[in-house]
Amino acid sequence: MNSNIGSIGRATPIDADAAPMIDPFGRAVTYLRVSVTDRCDFRCTYCMAENMTFLPKKDLLTLEELNRLCSAFIAKGVRKIRLTGGEPLVRKNIMFLFRELGKQIGSGLDELTVTTNGSQLARHAEELYDCGVRRINVSLDTLDPDKFRAITRWGDLAKVMEGIDAAQRAGLKIKLNAVALKGFNEAEIPDLMRFAHGRGMDLTVIETMPMGEIDEDRTDKYLPLSKLRADLERDFTLTDIPYKTGGPARYVEVSETGGRLGFITPLTHNFCESCNRVRLTCTGTLYMCLGQNDAADLRTALRASEDNGFLHAAIDEAITRKPKGHDFIIDRTHNRPAVARHMSVTGG
Ligand code: SAM
Ligand code: SF4
Repeated sequence: MNSNIGSIGRATPIDADAAPMIDPFGRAVTYLRVSVTDRCDFRCTYCMAENMTFLPKKDLLTLEELNRLCSAFIAKGVRKIRLTGGEPLVRKNIMFLFRELGKQIGSGLDELTVTTNGSQLARHAEELYDCGVRRINVSLDTLDPDKFRAITRWGDLAKVMEGIDAAQRAGLKIKLNAVALKGFNEAEIPDLMRFAHGRGMDLTVIETMPMGEIDEDRTDKYLPLSKLRADLERDFTLTDIPYKTGGPARYVEVSETGGRLGFITPLTHNFCESCNRVRLTCTGTLYMCLGQNDAADLRTALRASEDNGFLHAAIDEAITRKPKGHDFIIDRTHNRPAVARHMSVTGG
């Protein structure tokens, strides 16, 4: 990891420089994803190994520190924050952070949202709405309880369904995310789509990304979405639409269901040219790209002073290192993932 201590040392420690973040390729950074914990109550086979070693709790930033970091990003032009993980809703007292960040909606922040596996959603849905959250992403790869248990290693589909019900009752708009896996849910995507669209939810399908060691070979499960789309087009009429949610998905409208289907295709179609985001981990490490290893340590700047000048300078230095694009190629020579950290470290 590159350290940015040198540049912090040269920075003027004043709080005034909260200039917008423009990367070397002219892209404005307006979207921050925060992985609030690397822990999870599931072990999805494409995401984690069964025996994961998680960070010691003492290495985590406190929720107050995460709030301060997020607020520094809002001061520097971030309009949308997504809390993710690991499973964000398993972090103790996480609603404190939602509550604090929710206060900034309308004064700097346009949107606060979350990506969750849904397991804890039933008990948090109303409070999320109360904190100002209006749209959430729920990950759901199958509607079959046995397959659900298999893919998550120990998840309970009924709990997730309860969570979806509670979230809709609370007024939260849901987008479902499904990772498209060859030989696992490839034939089930039409059912997932009918389920989502029947309940007024968008569905987005995602290609598996080679991140972190897992217990199996991901290339066996890799399903190019171009193939999935061609298969779907045998039964459905898909029309490209310019709909955007600030994320990398490209959407089609499905005539037969009247709903929207999104495709996130990091491997078959690179979406980096319009990238507007950076990713913060629960230890205060900033990744300027999901698909690259370079990172900046913001924890040192955060703890160096109460004065946000150090922090703004460290963020500015990091943004100068935002790369043009990701490098998701599976390292076939050594048969290991291109990016060593798991998705749960930086969040999806
Ligand atoms: N635990 C929450 C969840 O599952 O929604 C949030 C974190 S999870 C890392 C975020 C998203 O990343 C999920 O939709 C998950 O399916 C997806 N994901 C995890 N590992 C992936 C991988 N290797 N390739 C593609 N998507 C992945
Ligand atoms: Fe947990 Fe989400 Fe990863 Fe599944 S995809 S193991 S729910 S972090």
